[in-house]
Amino acid sequence: MRATVIYGAGDVRVEAVPDPVIQRPTDALVRVVRACICGSDLWPYGSMPDSDTGERIGHEFLGVIEDVGSEVGGLARGDLVVAPFVWSDGTCDFCREGLQTSCRHGGLWASNGIDGGQGEAVRVPQAWGTLVKLPVAPDSALLPSLLTLSDVFPTGHHCAVKAGVNPRTTVTVIGDGAVGLCAVLAAKRLGAERIILMGRHADRTDLGVQFGATDVVAERGAEGIERVRELTGGDGTHAVLECVGYRAAVETALGVVRDGGVVSRVGAPQYQDLPLDFGTFMRNITLTGGVAPARAYIGELLPDVLDGRVEPGRVFDRAVGLDGVPDGYRAMADRKALKVLITP
Ligand SMILES: [Zn+2]
Repeated sequence: MRATVIYGAGDVRVEAVPDPVIQRPTDALVRVVRACICGSDLWPYGSMPDSDTGERIGHEFLGVIEDVGSEVGGLARGDLVVAPFVWSDGTCDFCREGLQTSCRHGGLWASNGIDGGQGEAVRVPQAWGTLVKLPVAPDSALLPSLLTLSDVFPTGHHCAVKAGVNPRTTVTVIGDGAVGLCAVLAAKRLGAERIILMGRHADRTDLGVQFGATDVVAERGAEGIERVRELTGGDGTHAVLECVGYRAAVETALGVVRDGGVVSRVGAPQYQDLPLDFGTFMRNITLTGGVAPARAYIGELLPDVLDGRVEPGRVFDRAVGLDGVPDGYRAMADRKALKVLITP
């Protein structure tokens, strides 16, 4: 089969790799119907040291089951399924607590001999705990939105949930990437009436407004903080959803959060330390967030996607075949595409 392999910064190739086969009785084989490129794939795309062997890449996909191991209950050949961006057994204590990202028998895609999602097929370990069956046909118009259940939409939702967003909280979302826009959608879905979106790409913040943002702040840094404070009577918002991952974004978050409020982070941190000083202490700021246990949220979010109440798939603004994947990476890295959908 063919799959995406990254050889270093800016060097993504699509090439022949071994066909996946069932290795353990808990495995399933999934033929990928849709996959996509994640903002977090841009971190290795921007900085990975050159490698002779390359590494598989991609962690968001949905597809049709081609085969299952003897211990995979509840799933059968022909089922359309979505995979969250971490695989997990569904039975350990962490999984039962809804923290599948800490599963004692789970792991990441595209590492340690596990297939990546940006290819024609994937061997799925712990298939019973990992995969979620989708009650639609494999040519459904809902596929883009259903694909976002693998990562971006649950990540935005997790950010809002950890921040305690509800109809009484005012919200600032920092970042107009796909996760930031999904965080707007999630905050709106949880009932927030005031959602300030900080981002400077007008086409993206326009979509954010359609997703539920009530105000857009294009300014950054001290100017952006001042603008949000102006919009909130000088106080800032109860909840701040940080969807970028740079230290500057966290500094902005601490600047726009209201005293007693919550800063929730889902941007993969590209920094080593945080400015949590005496002033932050005196303001009783809660810092939370982290990697989203997407698997825990799919059951809750799926019905709203199926009946069209939310359309997170609108974050995809470019579609490519497998051969177009290298161009897709370039377009996202150059900020010419928000998020790229792949049809292998
Ligand atoms: Zn587990």
